[in-house]
Amino acid sequence: MTEVEGKSCIAIVGGGLVGALAACFLAKRGHQVVIYEYRSDIRMEKSRGQSINLALSFRGREALKAIGLENILVKYHGTCMRGRMLHDKDGNLKEVLYDSVKGNCIYSVNRRYLNVILLDAAEKYPQVQLNFNRKLVEADLEKGKIKFLNTNTGATEDAEADLIIGADGAHSTVRKIMARRPLFNCAQTYIEHGYVELSVACNEHNKFAMSGNNLHIWPRGEFMMTSLPNEDCTFTGNLFAPFYVFEKLKTREALLSFYTEHFPDLLRLIGEEKLVEQFFEKEPQTLISIKCKPYHVGKTAVIVGDAAHAMVPFYAQGMNAGFEDILVLDELMERYDSNFAKILPKFSELRCDNGHAICDLAMYNYTEMRDLVMKKSFLFRKFLDKVLFTLVPNFWIPLYFAVQFTRMNFRECIAHKEWQDKVLRMSLYLAFLIFAVLTIPFLRNGM
Ligand code: FAD
Repeated sequence: MTEVEGKSCIAIVGGGLVGALAACFLAKRGHQVVIYEYRSDIRMEKSRGQSINLALSFRGREALKAIGLENILVKYHGTCMRGRMLHDKDGNLKEVLYDSVKGNCIYSVNRRYLNVILLDAAEKYPQVQLNFNRKLVEADLEKGKIKFLNTNTGATEDAEADLIIGADGAHSTVRKIMARRPLFNCAQTYIEHGYVELSVACNEHNKFAMSGNNLHIWPRGEFMMTSLPNEDCTFTGNLFAPFYVFEKLKTREALLSFYTEHFPDLLRLIGEEKLVEQFFEKEPQTLISIKCKPYHVGKTAVIVGDAAHAMVPFYAQGMNAGFEDILVLDELMERYDSNFAKILPKFSELRCDNGHAICDLAMYNYTEMRDLVMKKSFLFRKFLDKVLFTLVPNFWIPLYFAVQFTRMNFRECIAHKEWQDKVLRMSLYLAFLIFAVLTIPFLRNGM
């Protein structure tokens, strides 16, 4: 690849969602980009890959908008989900809108399609080169030296770059290499729950078998099922549960009796044979959360997306936050004229704590989705949020809205929720006090 004066030669490890997006942004600024991706080109494959659909919200949309891909996804290939549809055990439904004030929704998009159009978009830039079947095995992050295994030939290959971007996912090799350095902190947590993916076919009229504009949830306390609509009127669902629950579901009989007891409406929709077939196709998958700091090494290496902040999927923010990383990187390239010695430390400063905050929020949302959503106190709080958001929309921004429909820093989203909790607690005490002060004289007179 020929060097262009004033422009960097950048190696991106990982051509998944975040890596392919990063290539588009960097190429747009004139940098030379080489993507090294472990897998073969997914555009040539039929395999479904990891979870088939993802919820795309504001942060992700803003990134796609900047490279001209928002419309194709949202308008033509996204399915609008306007709120949660809660299913109780008796099949009763309750819809909780995400934004009853401004009408915002989140979009269910096909993971594979999104990756394909991002790779296509990256490939359109003449200064982007895509190398598939290349597994990063070693790197000298300070010197910009990288070593790959060519999985087609079995040979190792060396390459050099001014900047190495680790977009190689939750089990990132770039991060593991960073972890050998002093002052790099990293904590990984596997939660004690896993998931199994299941799908619901369309009905006999080739239409959605349930409302197609909702994210469906079957909250059952310790575990839950979720389901997102697809463009072809099917749904992709997941059973999220503790591993000891999966341990009890080892036979056809146990599985069917579990679904008959907890998800009878879903069992009717999926069908017994299909459920058994899909459920036992794969072992339950694990869920990991990663918090690390810093995200960069000098001016020569940085990690983004899941490599930097893999999280449990319950706030549907993993990809969205990863896309926002690239937006932030791009904003810094604008501010510092692509001077990576200034950009990378600033990136760590802006994104590390933010990444830790969204990992925490994602953990919290699991409890909300599987348990709290059915509680009266939770629904009352949602109602108060709705009233206050309608009355003072610039002042009272509910947590879910701030995370999904704004680019408010995730740490700030948490701080916002904390002061709102405090205000509501104080208001309740005050209301109780006023009530007591007003009623005590009447009680005394009556005695
Ligand atoms: P990945 O998508 O994992 O891509 C990493 C790439 O790097 C892969 O292509 C891999 O092959 C490659 N690679 C790995 N190692 C090497 C190596 N050594 N050398 C070269 N290449 C390598 N997020 C949302 O925003 N919304 C959702 O609704 C949502 N739902 C989810 C549901 C589930 C069940 C799960 C598990 C996750 C969900 N996520 C969601 C999270 C989302 O999938 C991730 O945040 C997103 O895929 C991260 O993108 P990435 O490019 O950083 O990593």
